[in-house]
Amino acid sequence: MDRIKMTTPLVEMDGDEMTRILWQMIKEELLLPFIDLKTEYYDLGLEYRNETNDQVTVDSAEATKKYGVAVKCATITPNGARMKEYNLKEMWKSPNGTIRALLDGTVFRAPIVVKGIEPCVKNWEKPITIARHAYGDIYKNVEIKVPGAGKAELVFMAEDGTETRETIHQFKESGILQGVHNTDASIRSFAKACFNYALDTRQDLWFGAKDTISKKYDHNFKDIFQEVYEAEYKEKFEGAGIEYFYSLIDDIVARVMKARGGFIWACKNYDGDVMSDMVSSAFGSLAMMTSVLVSPSGVYEYEAAHGTVQRHYYQHLEGKETSTNSVATIFAWTGALRKRGELDGNKELMEFADKLEKATLGTIESGKMTKDLALITSLKDVIVLNSGDFIKEIRKTLEQMG
Ligand code: NAP
Ligand code: MG
Repeated sequence: MDRIKMTTPLVEMDGDEMTRILWQMIKEELLLPFIDLKTEYYDLGLEYRNETNDQVTVDSAEATKKYGVAVKCATITPNGARMKEYNLKEMWKSPNGTIRALLDGTVFRAPIVVKGIEPCVKNWEKPITIARHAYGDIYKNVEIKVPGAGKAELVFMAEDGTETRETIHQFKESGILQGVHNTDASIRSFAKACFNYALDTRQDLWFGAKDTISKKYDHNFKDIFQEVYEAEYKEKFEGAGIEYFYSLIDDIVARVMKARGGFIWACKNYDGDVMSDMVSSAFGSLAMMTSVLVSPSGVYEYEAAHGTVQRHYYQHLEGKETSTNSVATIFAWTGALRKRGELDGNKELMEFADKLEKATLGTIESGKMTKDLALITSLKDVIVLNSGDFIKEIRKTLEQMG
């Protein structure tokens, strides 16, 4: 059989632990036999990050800017324990944080919906994608524990010396204070990333904040979204038959619970942090969540939402069998391959991505799955497979599809 040709390389970011093992299996069984795979390889495994003083992470982000599409394996974010385990020179920062900062991107997380794994919310028929603003608000806050009576003020000093002051509170006794900020540029990037992604995936975009209470701060988010929408996206949305709307976050939450899914929910930083955990657990499993980082300039980095599955990796090292779910990592590859195909006008590559996704879901729907899914499926008499056999089973399904 002729393998599918590629013109532009994908940026391939390898990672750590169990997901690094799955990465290799996916390439060998599901990609290389079918595609003349062209990638520019970056090893983001912790050992090599340490060896290069994390330069490899920066290089991989730069390569993503150059080529436009990357696929990333889960990576370890070092903590104290990892410092010892890997004998690190420094506690390197989270690769995802570094890449996100360099690409100025927004992260979109969506569940993979499959028959047999029913969401807790019975009317959710299609995935709900959460877009989380990844800058500012309480994640960059400044706090004071107020010891006793006194006056708290909000002061802005312009470069020309002009002062703006607001009294926050006249304290009569002890209390707490918090200062948060955001920038118009970051909010605008976030808005653009959301509008672009909505057009890309032909889904409606919902955005909610608390503008009734926060008449300047949250209202500013609402206004910037509206301004960007009207200036650059309104006509495109109408052409694509999709809709953008803003509502109070309370109203959005109520609508989400009653909706059928199939839309993007844009969230401020904190809301996105909290709501993405709610949505992913309600859809069934973290192992079935995909994640894509989209920059305002239209650069894409695809990955699984879960981590390196450390516990399974240690079992694997002890020579024990593992049943680790590779679906989200497979979908990271198909997402990247489809996008690469789209940008290069490579229809075969796009069709292969669709087919591999169908084969993966078909395998699960036929009752063959990993342990994590077997525990929550509504299908009867399922066969639990180990990590390698599940991938081999997907290959069989793929080959049967012809
Ligand atoms: P994790 O790797 O997501 O795993 C947590 C638990 O969730 C696992 O022990 C397993 O439960 C279950 N699980 C997650 N993915 C699964 C899969 N594909 N198949 C089956 N079960 C799955 O999170 P973690 O253990 O907290 O973190 C491990 C490392 O990953 C950390 O070093 C962290 O820094 C890193 N991390 C990386 C990323 C990223 O690169 N995007 C994201 C998050 C975390 P059971 O043990 O019950 O089977
Ligand atoms: Mg969280």
